[in-house]
Amino acid sequence: MTTAQPLTELDVQPTPLALLLLGREADPRSERGVECPGDLPAPSDPGLVARARAAKERLGDRVFVLGHHYQRDEVIQFADVTGDSFKLARDAAARPGAEYIVFCGVHFMAESADILTSDAQKVVLPDLAAGCSMADMASAEQVEECWDVLTDAGVADGVVPVSYMNSSADIKAFTGRHGGTICTSSNAERALDWAFGQGDKVLFLPDQHLGRNTAIRDLGMSPEDCVVYDPHRPNGGLTTQQLRDARMILWRGHCSVHGRFSLESVNEVRARIPGVRVLVHPECKHEVVAAADEVGSTEYIIKALEAAPAGSKWAVGTELNLVRRLADRFAPEGKEIVFLDRTVCFCSTMNRIDLPHLVWTLESLADGNELNQIRVDADTAHHAQVALERMLALP
Ligand code: SF4
Repeated sequence: MTTAQPLTELDVQPTPLALLLLGREADPRSERGVECPGDLPAPSDPGLVARARAAKERLGDRVFVLGHHYQRDEVIQFADVTGDSFKLARDAAARPGAEYIVFCGVHFMAESADILTSDAQKVVLPDLAAGCSMADMASAEQVEECWDVLTDAGVADGVVPVSYMNSSADIKAFTGRHGGTICTSSNAERALDWAFGQGDKVLFLPDQHLGRNTAIRDLGMSPEDCVVYDPHRPNGGLTTQQLRDARMILWRGHCSVHGRFSLESVNEVRARIPGVRVLVHPECKHEVVAAADEVGSTEYIIKALEAAPAGSKWAVGTELNLVRRLADRFAPEGKEIVFLDRTVCFCSTMNRIDLPHLVWTLESLADGNELNQIRVDADTAHHAQVALERMLALP
């Protein structure tokens, strides 16, 4: 039995994680992670939309607002362009006249935009605590340690790293230094094809599901060709023989949003909506992907629904803000679109960017107060860009 102490006698320090969730303090080990001070307007302020519009008008062409597909409607309405992370970074690079790139997305996306834009452009993230839990699952130290394990096992020379776009700039730079490439969920098959032309094994970072799904569905590998490297276990939890036998070494990371969909959710929606087609993102678990009718990136999902005939029914396994927006958009065309899971599932870090943060950011910039700039150091940016350019050169 424990005895309660008076609160005043407790020496309770706020944990970095709690502070990060509150958008305060720094955690250098996190992909998120810097203090985010600022007096935000109240979410109940009825003038927020007008304030955002006025601040954006004051900034004019000096600002370019990027909105990731998973952002809230209240934010998306102010985006100059929408898209997935790579498209947005390229859109920003194509607007060299914009002094400020306000990235309504998460931290790794803003890093990529900083890498791809000119030094004169400043990339701003409206809430510095908007990170990505998947990107956080692979730190630079852990990945260097993994490389040492591969070296000790005598396999590193034949290993080509392939890193998903959803990774920190440090991981992209590691990939560039070790002869690897970046991939998106649209070009992962081409990236793996290329990598197996360079070596005999791939180290796939940080999303095990995208790596496994691409290897099995698109490259025809067997599940036994894949092993999972767990950075929290000695030697990744793998024997030397397992590392030597594997073709795909999958990092033990996953997306907390897409990882939630299950085979039960697929079976349940098929029973509930006869004739429904199940359309999922390749960050979902392999059993979900194997049970789905169609699998593809966010852009693929949007195009598939655009092309769908009137009267068709769809259960979509990706982030809820996007699914809701697509359901509203295509309802007048007679297309029924539902979320694959019965449980509400937003990307909680992506959702940190809300209208108060956007208003605060735009008004501060319009007043000449630069804030929340995301900067990638020159060495990291150089090696990350090497990996990104290999992706752009993929056949
Ligand atoms: S949806 Fe998943 S991969 Fe995308 S930012 Fe959120 S946690 Fe990261």
